[in-house]
Amino acid sequence: MHISDIIKSDSPTFSFEFFPPKTPAAAESLYQTIRELESYGPHFVSVTYGAGGSTRDLTHDLVERIQNTTKLDPIPHLTCVCHSEAEIESILHRYAKSCIGNILALGGDPPRECAYDKSGDAFQHATDLVKFIRRFNESGAHPDPRGFGIGVAGFPEGHPATPNRLVEMDHLKAKVDAGANYIVTQLFFDNRDFYDFRERCDLAGIRIPIIAGIMPITSMSGCQRIAELAGGARFPAKLLRALQRCKEDPQGVTRVGVHFALEQCHDLLDNHVAGIHFYTLNRSDATRTIFDSLGIPQRRPAEISTSTPH
Ligand SMILES: Cc1cc2nc3c(=O)[nH]c(=O)nc-3n(C[C@H](O)[C@H](O)[C@H](O)COP(=O)(O)OP(=O)(O)OC[C@H]3O[C@@H](n4cnc5c(N)ncnc54)[C@H](O)[C@@H]3O)c2cc1C
Repeated sequence: MHISDIIKSDSPTFSFEFFPPKTPAAAESLYQTIRELESYGPHFVSVTYGAGGSTRDLTHDLVERIQNTTKLDPIPHLTCVCHSEAEIESILHRYAKSCIGNILALGGDPPRECAYDKSGDAFQHATDLVKFIRRFNESGAHPDPRGFGIGVAGFPEGHPATPNRLVEMDHLKAKVDAGANYIVTQLFFDNRDFYDFRERCDLAGIRIPIIAGIMPITSMSGCQRIAELAGGARFPAKLLRALQRCKEDPQGVTRVGVHFALEQCHDLLDNHVAGIHFYTLNRSDATRTIFDSLGIPQRRPAEISTSTPH
């Protein structure tokens, strides 16, 4: 089912993001986390995509494992980085064959471990990838006659590569005009940034659902990592003050981070968010605590699997 259809019938959605683990032991541990979160009946789970090498196959494998052994709806991320047209086409065929319903089409982060020349990529921006997926959809190669639902990224605080926020909005609009039917945002800690982004999208004529990305801080080192990975992420003074008060107490830091994210979620729900996407960092504890405190009824119990593949 396309995410836009799910949102139409059952908004707000709740979803979780995972990244493919590098070792067999980590893969098993992640799989356990996924099974724990399955009982919450998320509307979908998404799996990130690396910048190259073997981790890319791990994404494909994890997506197919989730699809084949759980009742969860997995959404693979797919990026333009270091890919030819033929490679992307072959990945799309693989996912279509596995009846994957949606794809998150992204520009992608550049590889860190080697020199990278973006001009060698077949697709320069996520818009080009969205157009290509739409052409694939029109070819009838997907079992759903409409093909894949297509999600794209949005940046409530702005994307660091485009300081001109008006031009940035034009680029987002181009992705939507090319065929995207929902947006998932970068993490943010100040909901006012999200509400303002939502309004600016509306003013630009972007009228597709916008799912809010939330990442609970669970450690001081995690906080540093977020600052590096989500370049430009703003940390409100209120959050930093609370973290500083308990920085010597790791459990206190987790409680503060989870409480802050929980308050964000309550406020988003009060303000009619289309969906909340949790960046889980492959751990279930923080997300489960937030979920348990949001008062969300467990969904679709009859559809949740025990251990049998579907
Ligand atoms: C929800 C979410 C999930 C993510 N998952 C992954 C993942 O799995 N793997 C990964 O590698 N990265 C991931 N990222 C990071 C993302 O790929 C990077 O932040 C990337 O730099 C931006 O991606 P994009 O899809 O917005 O790219 P684009 O839409 O291509 O935009 C990238 C930059 O180029 C600009 N731009 C767009 N079109 C044009 C144009 N025609 N001319 C000039 N400039 C243009 C944009 O304004 C923006 O500044 C994710 C980000 C988010 C928000």
